[in-house]
Amino acid sequence: MTVCDVLKVSNLSIDLYTTRAALRPVDGVSYSVAAGETLAIVGESGSGKTVLNFAPLGLMPTGVVTDLSGSILFAGRELVGLAEPDMRRIRGGGIGTIFQDPMSALNPALRIGRQIAEVAELHLGMSAAQAEARALDLLKLVRMSDPEARLRQYPHELSGGLRQRAMIAIAIAAEPKLLIADEPTTALDVTVQAQIIGLLKDLQRRLNTAIVLITHDMGVVASIASRVAVMYAGRLAEYGSVEQVLLTPRHPYTRGLIAALPSAEDAPGALFRGLPGTPPVLGAPLSACAFAPRCSQAIDVCARQLPALQAAEHASAVACHVVNAINPKERVYA
Ligand code: SF4
Repeated sequence: MTVCDVLKVSNLSIDLYTTRAALRPVDGVSYSVAAGETLAIVGESGSGKTVLNFAPLGLMPTGVVTDLSGSILFAGRELVGLAEPDMRRIRGGGIGTIFQDPMSALNPALRIGRQIAEVAELHLGMSAAQAEARALDLLKLVRMSDPEARLRQYPHELSGGLRQRAMIAIAIAAEPKLLIADEPTTALDVTVQAQIIGLLKDLQRRLNTAIVLITHDMGVVASIASRVAVMYAGRLAEYGSVEQVLLTPRHPYTRGLIAALPSAEDAPGALFRGLPGTPPVLGAPLSACAFAPRCSQAIDVCARQLPALQAAEHASAVACHVVNAINPKERVYA
């Protein structure tokens, strides 16, 4: 962990057990994010990115037995195995959360001002009057129009964009070191998406908050992230700076994702270029490259052996037998 790492996840595996199956949605994943930095976790549905992103909050799927191994260091404190009362203090305190759907995350029966004030009272020990004043300041900070009136409104009285701003105000109310965002702009129209991304960048500049966000939108990645982790079947396929991963992707899966993006050179009405095949259904731990059935570069070893994530000089770290075989300077990523 470097001095300014806010979150350092090392070799994290998550096993989920139901009465009928054992699943491993996250398998040996490592990443870190520093103050003022944004890490985007990218992947298709079922890649394990949501389970991975909520692990630092101790929020796991309900109705299953969960087993975490590895390490999640937040501000130097180990979160794996932390007791629930301590975890509760960190949730909403040191770590703020922005969900995809603010309507389901906000309390429909409480005014917006009260919901923000409660966080300040609980985590900053403010009096009711101090917390109400802070709620107003935060609504101004997230650039809510007519903030005094918004304080007294209920979530259903706000538009989708204003609800997302209210949720961001709640997420930053306790001055968190880390914001965890789950597809924060997916439910919004394109103009409002750009405003929310601009707001998050502005808040990050002012507050020096670290952000980990999951998204499937490469446009969001390009506009806010400094680093990118590409997930496939519960493992990191590629990990590097946003320039490395978006401009010179090395893993066949990342290259496929980026090649599938619409381009300005596409003829009007051109067919959508999707990745061939479908993502695997998560199951037991893997013993081969999960991308092999969809990969045009697969060789024999891909079906027999799990590729390790390896770094190269001035390039992203990649988990691929073929890519890593042609780069002799690589070392195992730690
Ligand atoms: S390890 Fe093999 S199957 Fe997997 S991405 Fe690389 S070349 Fe393709």
